[in-house]
Amino acid sequence: MPLGLLKYGFASKYPARRDIPAPKDLNKSYDVVIIGAGGHGLSTAYHLARYHGITNVAVLDKGYIGGGNTARNTAVVRSNYISPEAVAFYKASVELFKNLANELGYNQMYSQRGQLTLAHSDASVRTFTLRAEVNKHLGVRSEMVDRKQIREIVPCLNMGKNMRFPIQAGLWHRDGGTARHDSIAWGYAMRAAQMGVEIHQRTEVTGVNINAGKVTAIETNRGTIQCNHAIQAVAGMSSVVAKMAGIQLPIRSYPLQAMVTQPVKPFLDPLVSSAGLHAYVSQTARGEIVIGGGSDPYELYSTRSTLDLKESLIAHTLELFPFFAELKLLRQWAGITDMTPDYSPIMGESPVKNYWLDAGWGTWGFKATPISGKCMAETIAQEKTAAMIQPFHLDRFKTFKLSNEAGATAASH
Ligand SMILES: Cc1cc2nc3c(=O)[nH]c(=O)nc-3n(C[C@H](O)[C@H](O)[C@H](O)COP(=O)(O)OP(=O)(O)OC[C@H]3O[C@@H](n4cnc5c(N)ncnc54)[C@H](O)[C@@H]3O)c2cc1C
Repeated sequence: MPLGLLKYGFASKYPARRDIPAPKDLNKSYDVVIIGAGGHGLSTAYHLARYHGITNVAVLDKGYIGGGNTARNTAVVRSNYISPEAVAFYKASVELFKNLANELGYNQMYSQRGQLTLAHSDASVRTFTLRAEVNKHLGVRSEMVDRKQIREIVPCLNMGKNMRFPIQAGLWHRDGGTARHDSIAWGYAMRAAQMGVEIHQRTEVTGVNINAGKVTAIETNRGTIQCNHAIQAVAGMSSVVAKMAGIQLPIRSYPLQAMVTQPVKPFLDPLVSSAGLHAYVSQTARGEIVIGGGSDPYELYSTRSTLDLKESLIAHTLELFPFFAELKLLRQWAGITDMTPDYSPIMGESPVKNYWLDAGWGTWGFKATPISGKCMAETIAQEKTAAMIQPFHLDRFKTFKLSNEAGATAASH
């Protein structure tokens, strides 16, 4: 055992340094108030401090750092979307993920091991071929693979012709991977706090004060704070918080569930997903098998997991990997996901001046954490929606310039 570890174990005082400063009173005012200390809020705070010199910032969370969907997702990071604006956006995020551990000095365990999406029908083959071509055109590594290649990529996959929906082909996305979700939130939180950003946990936002069309203050369970800017990054509570500012968002909120099995020896390197079967699977560094699927079919603000989802998701997963039947389930959980009509996020300006939106992340927002923070910080600093996120502007629902990602989000997350 290393000597340092022994000394640490026997030390009379707890010797570790605090990553986040101890809680303190709220100030009367801040330049920027960020509602939500998930990955998106904290990434925005970090980028504001590091790249725009704006450190008079308070991040408020009714719970704890990364305790929302940031802690509940299945950590899929990929850029094989279908609309050019989304491909460019998520590609930029993947680039940031590659250097994030260096940038933050915090290990995110980012692992780029490829993602295989299975096509079980002629229609899927056609759509995936289009997606691969759009991706390649924009510099994202995606290609169609046939049954023989699929067998080489995932030797343990059930390729039987007698399957309910036999596998016809696949979309192989070499840039796909995973990262450790809680360390993303903690890495951004720690660095932002070191630069002077205040993070106030257990601080619930209860109201937004507006004067002459501009945000002036945020009300919380600990008092009212004045601000020049406010941004909401509250994932599954986007409609509820936006309503406090008098904004109606085109969002419906559904639970999304996932589960993990007991750990087993490493056997599955790439991520495997099937939009046809509504199931996706990956193996964590600990050996657990992470299993996810589509959102629940009803709107609800509850993070309770259900037996019927468990049964159907397991049944679909067993069609792909029959030997999973031997595994025991360890945990099952849910998060609330905010779905927009076109399955793309809403970012940038809102009808209230200096009140900024980072919302509508549905089942796919974890992978956007670095780039959304970067773009939202630029937006706030320049008081103008950053060019990269213009296509995700709220106004698109008025102008009907939608960014349709229904096909590329599906059960791939
Ligand atoms: C089961 C599941 C699997 C998923 N898998 C993937 C995946 O594989 N890949 C992917 O890219 N995405 C995935 N997602 C989506 C992803 O998790 C989210 O889009 C992303 O984490 C959103 O991050 P965020 O920082 O915006 O929100 P969150 O992490 O949810 O943070 C929002 C914070 O706001 C706080 N808050 C809410 N209301 C208030 C208030 N009134 N006052 C103060 N604070 C408030 C909450 O406490 C919370 O901490 C998945 C989601 C789920 C549920």
